Amino acid sequence: MFSIDELAACVDADLRALSDRWSVEIVTTEGVPDQVRETAASHGLSIPELFPQAVSVRHDGFPYSRLTLSSGPDEGGEQLEASIEQLKTFVAEVTTEEWPGCPHHRHALVPTYEDGSLGWACPSSHEVLVPLGGLSQL
Ligand SMILES: [Zn+2]
Repeated sequence: MFSIDELAACVDADLRALSDRWSVEIVTTEGVPDQVRETAASHGLSIPELFPQAVSVRHDGFPYSRLTLSSGPDEGGEQLEASIEQLKTFVAEVTTEEWPGCPHHRHALVPTYEDGSLGWACPSSHEVLVPLGGLSQL
């Protein structure tokens, strides 16, 4: 399973393979204030902790968007794929091009979670071409 540090390092490597205008930073969001939590508890409610850490994706230093990574035991792969799909959308919005391009076709690669690791796969052949973080090898 990926830690937030591994996710940040892989995303950073893949974005820098595209352009050095991209960077990432791990940010810690503030949790729910104790007072709110206690008030909720007194009414028999509990407030779930939501993503205490996120990867902030920056373009020219501007914090463009955030990727979140749940640390839940069962939701690793799908959540990670969804995060990377979100990243593809951010990049496409900024560059107006699909990213990352498949070296063999005119389409973008897709994030694919298999056997505990995440890679970039061709959507036609379903072949995983490089692991997440490995786009500079293409
Ligand atoms: Zn392809």
